[in-house]
Amino acid sequence: MKTISILGSTGSIGTQTLDVVRANGDLRVAGIAAGRNVRLLEAQIREFSPKVVAVWEEEAAKELKTAVADLDVKIMTGMEGLLEVATLPEAEIVVTAIVGMIGIRPTIEAIRAGKDIALANKETLVTAGHLIMPLAQECGVRILPVDSEHSAIFQCLNGEQPSQIEKLLITASGGPFRGRTAEELKGVRVEDALKHPNWSMGQKITIDSATLVNKGLEVMEAKWLFGMDLDQIEVVVQPQSVIHSMIEFKDGAIMAQLGTPDMKLPIQYALYYPERRYLAGDRLDFAKLGQITFERPDTEVFLGLPYAYRAAREGGSMPTIFNAANERAVSRFLQRKIGFTDIYEIIAACMDAHKKIEHPSLEQILEAEQEAYELIESRW
Ligand code: NAD
Ligand code: MG
Repeated sequence: MKTISILGSTGSIGTQTLDVVRANGDLRVAGIAAGRNVRLLEAQIREFSPKVVAVWEEEAAKELKTAVADLDVKIMTGMEGLLEVATLPEAEIVVTAIVGMIGIRPTIEAIRAGKDIALANKETLVTAGHLIMPLAQECGVRILPVDSEHSAIFQCLNGEQPSQIEKLLITASGGPFRGRTAEELKGVRVEDALKHPNWSMGQKITIDSATLVNKGLEVMEAKWLFGMDLDQIEVVVQPQSVIHSMIEFKDGAIMAQLGTPDMKLPIQYALYYPERRYLAGDRLDFAKLGQITFERPDTEVFLGLPYAYRAAREGGSMPTIFNAANERAVSRFLQRKIGFTDIYEIIAACMDAHKKIEHPSLEQILEAEQEAYELIESRW
């Protein structure tokens, strides 16, 4: 029996994690945390019997308490609840499937409590990787990637030394707007941006995939996870999403991990590493697939990628500004308050206005986040 906790249990990664739990008989769920989906939380409590449940919103927590009054479960709210679920003594692994920088504090506290982290919440590493990676090492815990590209690299690395890597080749689908011009991007609607060609994911990451900000975040995530220099990380567009990423070694050999696009594989691999378990689902049929094609990313049109490299090169608090500006801009786009390409404009304006801090503490990261939010509030 392995016991886990899940931050973000009602989302795309969270529900697929519970699918993995359901399909295997030997995983137990100690705690779950989510934003406000009371109905789904109630169903999850009844099915998986967690001891503690954190609901971010106070009202939703009240409603949930009433709904599960017949059960022995502790319902908590806010950051206090998230931290409690992240540090439950029973849990060996914490799945960080929450979206956004809100995941930083729970992730840090879970590491301090000695939990291995199955990390989906990339925004946490992008903004606080310089704090999280050394802390994980100090506390002797593993950061197991759930993001499909990073899981692919992790799987290719099995038995190899990271020092033998020449470069990482992170694959990208190119998103729903691959091939469009900058002019054509201006008018795209929320509905169009939410139609990812290959993956079904939460709204924020789906928009990030359309802007290529997601790929930028993944470059920074890979830098921290595998201790790479930025110029060792290359993005390759592979529109069929069959190759999930690759490693080129010093001798020129390239290892790739392939498969149908299904997040349950990286989730399950992280939960059972180094063991591989049966996973139901479609298998790759190469004859049916016919071809796998490759392109360079269009960095003139999809500014998410070059802006991310800029933030990563400048380092310090700049990736926090990049990420926070993007989080707020995406939320405005989803509310139809700004256009698609305004996301780029907002990120650039926030980075231009920011005076970089070299080794930001957690407090300084959260201050930089606020700074970006305030600038956006005053101008958009
Ligand atoms: P989602 O929007 O589907 O789910 C987010 C979850 O976080 C929900 O359960 C929501 O209730 C919870 N949440 C949000 N704010 C919260 C708060 N303040 N307190 C408590 N819970 C809160 O998102 P997702 O697509 O599952 O993505 C989650 C993370 O995983 C993101 O960082 C994303 O980049 C990463 N990721 C997702 C995928 C994917 O296929 N969906 C792939 C790779 C990486
Ligand atoms: Mg990914």
